Amino acid sequence: MSPIVFGSPGRYIQGEALLDRLGLYLSGYANQVLFVCDAFVGKLVKPTIVSSCHGQNIRTAWIEFDGELTAQAVDRLKREAQSADFQLVVAVGGGKTLDAGKALAHSSNRPFVAVPTVASNDSPTSKNYVIYDDNHHLAEVRNMPRSAVLVIADTTLLARAPRHFLIAGIGDALSKYFEAEQCMKSNGANLFGARPSYSGFVLAKACYATIREYAEHALTGLPSAPQGCATTVAFDRLIEAVILMSGLGFESGGLSVAHSMTRGFSRVPGCATAAHGLAVAYGLLVQLRLERRSESFIHELLSFYQRIGLPKTLSELGATSNDRAIRQSIADYTMTAPHIRNFERTLNAEDIVAAMEAIDSMTHELR
Ligand SMILES: [Zn+2]
Repeated sequence: MSPIVFGSPGRYIQGEALLDRLGLYLSGYANQVLFVCDAFVGKLVKPTIVSSCHGQNIRTAWIEFDGELTAQAVDRLKREAQSADFQLVVAVGGGKTLDAGKALAHSSNRPFVAVPTVASNDSPTSKNYVIYDDNHHLAEVRNMPRSAVLVIADTTLLARAPRHFLIAGIGDALSKYFEAEQCMKSNGANLFGARPSYSGFVLAKACYATIREYAEHALTGLPSAPQGCATTVAFDRLIEAVILMSGLGFESGGLSVAHSMTRGFSRVPGCATAAHGLAVAYGLLVQLRLERRSESFIHELLSFYQRIGLPKTLSELGATSNDRAIRQSIADYTMTAPHIRNFERTLNAEDIVAAMEAIDSMTHELR
């Protein structure tokens, strides 16, 4: 048998008010650090981070990044970074900012640290980053040669983020168990191009169980106002599932249909701008139908989606039209994703169209 590969960040630290201690955590790695953040996050966290770093004699340089990570944006980041001396790149922000930091760490051959400010996906623990073209189409998935040396998940910060980010993160994480299972069943490759490790699968499975056990309780505990939430045990567990277990589960366990479908959704008006995790959540429903799961199993998951606000149909994902041509186009692009081969039987575009139609009619039955 070919070797398995399991990869992960060097260290994962999760807890309350960690930003106050960021300098201490970084001091083992560098004394000159380049931070990447967007303008909004910069205003929010920069004073705390600068004071924490100065307390440890760490010099900081800052680059602001807003918008889409295109190949041109990566070149611009590289040019901006040329004037700074730095041994380490730390990205503070959401998925796009973390991806910008990964691109900069990759191109400058420096270690990378992720400090997520929202839990909208598992990007912090993943070595992958996504490059878009000017039309918001997914153009390329690139890989840092090494995973992040450190991931700092500050739950005080994450609890303050608007809840729709966390709902998207749940959507991105829920699918990992089913995707890793299909990857294993089909002898597919994980994100290291290797045979999936069983540990990746086990973490993905635990990720699903943890979300189902704690998500609703954690979301109920979050105030509707975006500020001032005290973190709870349920929230703590949920964050670990959404960021850590999900990331390790997919990189080492592998992906399948649910993530392949994001390639199709990125081509459809309305869906193209949906959060990644919401697209994955709908993609998971399609995958479960393709797996020929029982109607009761899918209905149970659909009611969970209903309760927490995940999309159950293409129109809930944002599609402005719901005709067959749109489904066909999504299916055709989905079939170009490499992970679509990680399935227990060979799929074609017609299978995907039929599964999408079946999920839509099951959802209508629920009403
Ligand atoms: Zn994902």
